[in-house]
Amino acid sequence: MPVAASLTEVSSNNLEAYWMPFTANRQFKSAPRLLVSAKGMYYKARDGREVLDGSAGLWCVNAGHCRDEIVDAVKAQVETLDYSPAFQMSHPAAFELAAKVAAIAPADLDHVFFTNSGSEAVDTALKIAVAYHQVRGQGSRFRLVGRERGYHGVGFGGLAVGGIVANRKSFGPLLPGADHIGHTHNLEHNAFSRGEPEWGAHLADDLERLVALHDASTIAAVIVEPMAGSTGVLVAPKGYLKRLREICDKHGILLIFDEVITGFGRLGAAFAAERFGVIPDLITCAKGLTNAMVPMGAVIARKSIFETFMKAAPEGAIELFHGYTYSGHPLACAAGLATLELYRKEDLFARAAKIAPYFENAVHSLKGARHVIDIRNIGMVAGIELQPRQSRPTERAFDTFLKCFDKGVLFRTTGDIIAISPPLIISHAEIDRIVSTIGDVLKTVE
Ligand code: PLP
Repeated sequence: MPVAASLTEVSSNNLEAYWMPFTANRQFKSAPRLLVSAKGMYYKARDGREVLDGSAGLWCVNAGHCRDEIVDAVKAQVETLDYSPAFQMSHPAAFELAAKVAAIAPADLDHVFFTNSGSEAVDTALKIAVAYHQVRGQGSRFRLVGRERGYHGVGFGGLAVGGIVANRKSFGPLLPGADHIGHTHNLEHNAFSRGEPEWGAHLADDLERLVALHDASTIAAVIVEPMAGSTGVLVAPKGYLKRLREICDKHGILLIFDEVITGFGRLGAAFAAERFGVIPDLITCAKGLTNAMVPMGAVIARKSIFETFMKAAPEGAIELFHGYTYSGHPLACAAGLATLELYRKEDLFARAAKIAPYFENAVHSLKGARHVIDIRNIGMVAGIELQPRQSRPTERAFDTFLKCFDKGVLFRTTGDIIAISPPLIISHAEIDRIVSTIGDVLKTVE
């Protein structure tokens, strides 16, 4: 059949060809959940129902959906400059956005490398870390350390330091030299914590175990999420990140904060580094950088790291052999600039900090609800952990998700954990609606 004819025969009712990511494809296609439009706090489903967005898309639409300011900026950009080569060429908005991101990043993290996703940001940061040690004459530092239960995207680098078994087990040996410290989740000590759990700063000492095993001279970097989102909202215990920083400093190991979720206001500050008062050497971010309107990620590096590369390479030489065709894409930069301006104008990071106590009280009101074994939260993120069904993990939370979606409330589940991370513009009434819907549904879920 000619291409034109075969294309007209394909309608959006044909769900077969799309191999969906991180989705039970056969189950989804038997009862699809399709969203067709969005505005502010709400999606519209294909059947016309309004759905309250309790997950900011996938932790990314921090300013709410289809905000006019960002839509207009992207429209204007696409009509003016659709694309500019990213290598040995660029365009003004990329520099402007880098300067604005650097301005809100903590301390001297003031150089920005653009990517197109969180996964690419992570792999970029890991490569920068290894190359940094090489250019400063410590090329024996090649090991990369992550944490059990960590999520750092799906590139081979991010998988190697990631600690979610289902994501790792099908993909062979991954990167050689990657290792992991233990995770921080402990219901015996920390169940129903509000904010940073009291117990567990000493868990950072696990890094000393790896130093003793491998020797610091072989370790390039440690990467952690200050609040591990995708694995089920695990907030770093009080003092843990500070201790990790101290151990890294003692041994000359770089500390990377993966702030793909925590960046841009989620915890009530521009970055979790600021919220926790701990300065990493590299920050990875994505998601809220453009309010998810155009894909974009970034690595933010300390001045000393950038300067080490600049000084090591001869004049006229490329200092870092790394980059993407779409690094600093004009549409993403336009979306990023408009997004940062919206965050500033509406003071959304401060707003998140201000409504966080209301959100905290609301989610913790579910303590005692059927199946609930833990509730934890920080900023505008909460995790509600359910007792898994015997021999059928994940089903109970997923059933809760499906029933809530039917009632017009969307959130994400991971394992048997419900994760709530709404846009930062959410109202008190909308918080109440999310919580009461979950409470009602839990009464009916087996
Ligand atoms: N790192 C963290 C902490 C994340 O939460 C995610 C995605 O959720 C990623 C990396 C990967 O980002 P992306 O899906 O944009 O590749």
